[in-house]
Amino acid sequence: PYDVLIVGGGPAGASASIYASRKGIRTGIVAERFGGQVMDTLAIENFISVKETEGPKLVAALEEHVKEYEVDVMKLQRANKLRRQGKMIEVELESGAKLLSKAIIIATGARWRELGVPGESEYRGHGVAYCPHCDGPLFKGKHVAVIGGGNSGVEAAIDLAGIVGHVTLLEFADELKADAILQKKLHSLSNVTVIIGAQTTEVTGDGKKVNGLNYKDRATEESHHVEVAGVFVQIGLLPNTDWLKDTLTLSKYGEIEIDSHGATSMPGVFAAGDVTTIPYKQIIMAMGEGARAALGAFDYLIRNEFD
Ligand code: FAD
Repeated sequence: PYDVLIVGGGPAGASASIYASRKGIRTGIVAERFGGQVMDTLAIENFISVKETEGPKLVAALEEHVKEYEVDVMKLQRANKLRRQGKMIEVELESGAKLLSKAIIIATGARWRELGVPGESEYRGHGVAYCPHCDGPLFKGKHVAVIGGGNSGVEAAIDLAGIVGHVTLLEFADELKADAILQKKLHSLSNVTVIIGAQTTEVTGDGKKVNGLNYKDRATEESHHVEVAGVFVQIGLLPNTDWLKDTLTLSKYGEIEIDSHGATSMPGVFAAGDVTTIPYKQIIMAMGEGARAALGAFDYLIRNEFD
């Protein structure tokens, strides 16, 4: 059995594995896709101390760093059950294999909910963006759209309005869902246009990058086109916790609740990164959280007996 078994091989999981292994304890990682969301990222300019890099390049560096240590890396494996077995915890994989460990760190990340309209996947990273903290500065002085009028969409629009030339926010429903204070701030900005009752139907482009979007006015059924250089999709972040619903305490958004040591509601099970309730989902955050969960797990190991 493992001392620490990590589920997820994104920045949080990779960081946790290095911190755990450096304690001289038996460490393993199970990951469906090593690198996680970072594999889907083009330019990264906010990973502090690295001025500029690309997702796959950062993932290669992560993997190289993990390989410096005695970590069992099990790739292309999906975990689908977590249960306690006496003093140990068992993770069952989709293949049917079962892995036992004294402590577990869940770092299965999250995924952005997509619009599912033509042009979205084609122009992903070429104008279609999901993270204003990451990609906002790429659109300095330009006209961008934000899709989604909940808290994250309105926050994104306020944030972007300070960087880009103009922001058009489109909301499907007949009213914005964001907190009143955010809406007030949004409406005070002179370079923001809000369109409600708008169903985005297509992201348009010139073959290389985004040049606009089409939406249908749901009241009149009329179609409209807006010229924009970027489209920020802000319609939800879905944590990868479907397999944990009956075992761990989750927030109403499905994120794993953790304490200040990264501990979850099940003793011996820790969590880190985008899959948890920690706000501001970023690579640098995920790595810090992974380190913390590993140290939390190590503390748990030295305070408990397992034979
Ligand atoms: P993830 O990266 O989501 O990794 C999750 C891991 O868990 C993966 O290995 C996955 O395969 C695995 N997994 C999931 N479910 C299971 C399962 N059941 N069994 C086994 N393994 C499983 N952040 C920045 O700081 N700067 C940026 O410029 C930036 N740009 C971004 C651009 C895009 C397009 C996207 C999508 C995100 C971007 N982010 C950026 C956000 C950043 O990528 C995430 O915050 C970060 O990757 C979260 O790390 P994580 O380890 O928590 O989860």
